[in-house]
Amino acid sequence: MSEQIYDIFVIGGGINGCGIARDAAGRGYKVALAEMNDFASGTSSGATKLIHGGLRYLEHYEFRLVRESLMEREVLWAMAPHIIWPMRFVLPYHKGGIRPAWLIRLGLFLYDHLGGRKLLPPTATLDMKRDPAGKPLKALFTKAFEYSDGWVDDARMVVLNARDAADRGATIMPRTKVISARREGVTWTIETQDTVTGEKRTFQSRMLINAAGPWVDHVLSDAFGKNQVHNVRLVQGSHIIVRKKFDDPRAYFFQNPDNRIIFAIPYEQDFTLIGTTDRDYKDDPKDVKISDEETTYLCSAASEYFKEPVRREDIVWSYSAVRPLYDDGASKAQEATRDYVLKVEGAEGQAPLLNVFGGKLTTYRRLSEHALEKIGEVIGLKGTPWTAKSSLPGGDFPVRGYEAEVAKLKARYPFLADPHARRLVRRYGTRAAMLLGEAKTAADLGRSFGSDLYEAEVRYLMAHEWAYTAADVLWRRSKKGLYLSKDEAAALDDYMAGTRVHA
Ligand SMILES: Cc1cc2nc3c(=O)[nH]c(=O)nc-3n(C[C@H](O)[C@H](O)[C@H](O)COP(=O)(O)OP(=O)(O)OC[C@H]3O[C@@H](n4cnc5c(N)ncnc54)[C@H](O)[C@@H]3O)c2cc1C
Repeated sequence: MSEQIYDIFVIGGGINGCGIARDAAGRGYKVALAEMNDFASGTSSGATKLIHGGLRYLEHYEFRLVRESLMEREVLWAMAPHIIWPMRFVLPYHKGGIRPAWLIRLGLFLYDHLGGRKLLPPTATLDMKRDPAGKPLKALFTKAFEYSDGWVDDARMVVLNARDAADRGATIMPRTKVISARREGVTWTIETQDTVTGEKRTFQSRMLINAAGPWVDHVLSDAFGKNQVHNVRLVQGSHIIVRKKFDDPRAYFFQNPDNRIIFAIPYEQDFTLIGTTDRDYKDDPKDVKISDEETTYLCSAASEYFKEPVRREDIVWSYSAVRPLYDDGASKAQEATRDYVLKVEGAEGQAPLLNVFGGKLTTYRRLSEHALEKIGEVIGLKGTPWTAKSSLPGGDFPVRGYEAEVAKLKARYPFLADPHARRLVRRYGTRAAMLLGEAKTAADLGRSFGSDLYEAEVRYLMAHEWAYTAADVLWRRSKKGLYLSKDEAAALDDYMAGTRVHA
C-alpha cells in the first residue's frame, strides 16, 4: 500500500490524461498517473496531427468547438515551437465541385475571424495554373483557397506533457494498468498492475480521473464494475504514408464526392501522409488496423486530385486509431460531435470521479483547464490557470526561432549533418544539447542504429522519456521506424533490453 494519499489519480496517458496531470501538478495538487502501455500508444499517436479549428466542423455548427480550437492554435504553437508549427493548406476547387466556391469562402471568412489569429496569415486565393501548388494536381483544378492551421508531432506532445508533469512533482507510471477502483468514503482505493512484471500495487486518492480515451467505458465496466455503460461512440480513422507526392511545404485539403474530406500532408521530409477515414468501430481499440476498404478509399480519393495516382504498392506505412467521441446519437460517424464532455460522479461525502469523453489534440489544454475547474469545485481549489503562458520541455524559444535554434546547435556541435541537427531541434528543442552532452564527434554519440539514430538519443529517451521498447523510440518518440530496417529495429530492441538489465 502506498503511504501517501494523492489528491488526483489519473487513468490514461494519452493527451488528455497527461494534460490534466501536468496542469494539476503545476497548481500544487499531489498527482499520480497510470498508463497501461506507453504514452500516446492509444489514440494520441494516431491522429492527422493538425492543430486546427476544424473547417469541416463549421458545417455541423460546432461554433464553440471551432472558436476554442482556433484560439488554441497560437497558444500551443508558442508553448512548443519545436513540435508545433504553422502550415498552409491548399483547398482546390472547380466549377460543379462538391461545395460552391461562395460556401467555402464563407467558411474560410469565419475561420479567419472567429478568433485568436494574430500571427497566422489569413486566407488567400490561388491561381493553380501559376502557383507551384497546382503542379502535382490534375489540370481540372485551376483555382484554390489557401488558409492557415498548425501541425503537431502528436505523440511527442503527449510525452512532453508527462515529462513536465513529472518535473512538477507528479508520479508518472507507464506500463501500469488500473485494474480496480473502489470508493471508501471520501477516498478511492485504486489497484494497479505492472504490465511487464505483473506486480500489483495499491494507491489512495481523493479524486479519480478517467481519461482512458476509447477505453473510458471499459474502465467504467471493468475497473468500477458498472453495468450497461455506453458514453462514447468509437469511430475509426486510418492514414496511409507514401513516398513524397510533392515538394511543396503546404498541405492539401481534398473534398470527396461522399462529402467527406481528406488531407495530403508533407510528412517527415521524404513522405506524404494521406488521411483520414471515418467509420464506426466495435472491437477492442487495441486491435484497430486499417481495412482493405479504407486503403482503397484513401488511394482513390487522393487519386481524384493528383496527376500521378496513389497506388496500394506506393504505401510504405499505415496507421489507424479510434476516436472516442461523446455519443450524441448522430446517425453518421462523421457527424458525431468532436467536442468534449466532462462529467463528475459522486454524491456528497463520496470520493468524486471525473470522466473525460471526447476531445481533440488541439483542445487538450483547454479541456485540462475545464477539468481543473471541476476538480477545484469538488476537492478544493489550488493555484490558478497557468499553462497558456508556459513552455513544454524544450519549447522555451521564440515561435519563429526554429532556424536560430538549429544554427546554435550546429555551432556548438559542428560535426552534426544539417538534417540531423534539424531533426533534433524539431524533436527536442532546447533540450537537444542535453542529449548530445559533451560530444565532439559523431563517434561520441555511441552506436549507430541506422539512419541518424545514435545511442546517445536512445539513452536520453530511456532516461528522460520512459522509452522501454524499440517501438516506443521508433514510432512514438520519433518516426525513425520509417527509415530503419526490420533487422535494425530488432537490434535496437535487443540493445534496449540489455541496457534495462544493466541500468
Ligand atoms: C484518425 C484520427 C485523427 C485525428 N486527428 C486529429 C487532428 O488532426 N487534430 C486534433 O486535434 N485531434 C485529432 N484527433 C483526435 C485526438 O487524436 C484524440 O481526441 C485524442 O488523442 C484523445 O486522447 P485521449 O487522451 O482521450 O485518448 P488516448 O490517447 O487513447 O489515451 C487514453 C489512454 O488510456 C490508456 N488506458 C486505457 N485503459 C487504461 C487502464 N485501465 N489503465 C491505465 N491506462 C489505461 C490507454 O492505453 C491510452 O493510452 C484525431 C483522432 C483520430 C482517431
